[in-house]
Amino acid sequence: MSVSAYASSPFDHGRADVVLRSSDNVDFRVFRLFLSLSSPFFETLFDLPQPSEEKHGDAETKDGLPVIPVSEDSKTLEAVLRFCYPRTLIEKTISIKHFKDGVKMLEAAKKYSLDGAESAIRKTLFSTNNLEADPLRCFVVARQARMRDETILSAKYCLQTGLIPGWFEEIEMITATDLLDLLAYHEKCGKAAQQLQSSYSWIERHYKNRSAIPWIFGKASGRPCPCPRSDKIKLFGRKHLVWWEEFMEATFQTLKEKPCARTVRESVEKTITDVRSRDCRSCAPNIATVMHQFADLFAKKVEEVVAEVNSFVSSVEKMR
Ligand SMILES: [Zn+2]
Repeated sequence: MSVSAYASSPFDHGRADVVLRSSDNVDFRVFRLFLSLSSPFFETLFDLPQPSEEKHGDAETKDGLPVIPVSEDSKTLEAVLRFCYPRTLIEKTISIKHFKDGVKMLEAAKKYSLDGAESAIRKTLFSTNNLEADPLRCFVVARQARMRDETILSAKYCLQTGLIPGWFEEIEMITATDLLDLLAYHEKCGKAAQQLQSSYSWIERHYKNRSAIPWIFGKASGRPCPCPRSDKIKLFGRKHLVWWEEFMEATFQTLKEKPCARTVRESVEKTITDVRSRDCRSCAPNIATVMHQFADLFAKKVEEVVAEVNSFVSSVEKMR
């Protein structure tokens, strides 16, 4: 006796010719033809003798249709079956509320060789939102599923978080070697970003002349402003402002832990607020404009040096 329920439309069709039963006991009345055309896995499965055609006493049928149990739960099965049906019957959309559900859908799409479903699930799972919110979880899933591009992309987003991650469920899905690779990459990127602090020649090369950045030297309005100057001479042979030096120091400090463009942007916003509160009539008025321009250069440089850290990419290449 079956206590299972039928899935919702169109997976409850009266003229369907087979029933797929999910692990949580939901029956999907489906058409073999749609599934076979979309998935070589189903094609092979349906080529096997069906329970109703064989005289197994224990083979289950429901309403005269053979019942094939599958290992996916109903939410996962519904998501991948959508991609087997014509667009006129059901939309090929993916909605993933919980990351875990997405992982299960991805596994199912791979198992059934549903390329369209797989790429749609990948896109949803590794959306910018998810990468920003949960880069490490994305990394673990990508690495485990041997997805090269998503692994590298997620590792880059991991640079926005601290070096040592906190515990989360999926962390147990990857090996210590894989995690170590990520940590080593993160650390190398941090060191690469630090190199930009040892010499400001990259700033000089970009601006060519100090008159292009008078605001760093306390001459935003043309005349010297009252803000204190640093004793250190690191840029165009002139003394720069202390607040600018503090901004650079603080940014490089954070870049050690989070070597990414976002660190620069966040640090810039904080400095804009700080400088405005100083109330210098020369520095304050244009601070947002000049700092945002400088942030573009600084962030681009950080991205450049981080992109040169290739050890991780090559270790991902090897994993294939
Ligand atoms: Zn000033």
